Amino acid sequence: MSRCSEIAQQLSDYIDGELDQELCAELEKHLAGCNNCRLMVDNLRLTVTLCKDGSCDDLPEALQQKLNDKLAERWKKKFGRL
Ligand SMILES: [Zn+2]
Repeated sequence: MSRCSEIAQQLSDYIDGELDQELCAELEKHLAGCNNCRLMVDNLRLTVTLCKDGSCDDLPEALQQKLNDKLAERWKKKFGRL
């Protein structure tokens, strides 16, 4: 069973569709039972979706950085490390 910290490292690959099928299935299994990781995915997905829509210009790099920082901070609070 995967741990949240391991999942977190794979989330961006997962969202980009670049994750192994096997890892992907494992990750989704974890997501099904972990609200926190699902939130992470939702947030990341929102960012990615905005970019793919071409709205990336409306989402300045600074804001993306801020979002990432926020997620990282929340993560550290919950798990003590990234
Ligand atoms: Zn988790």
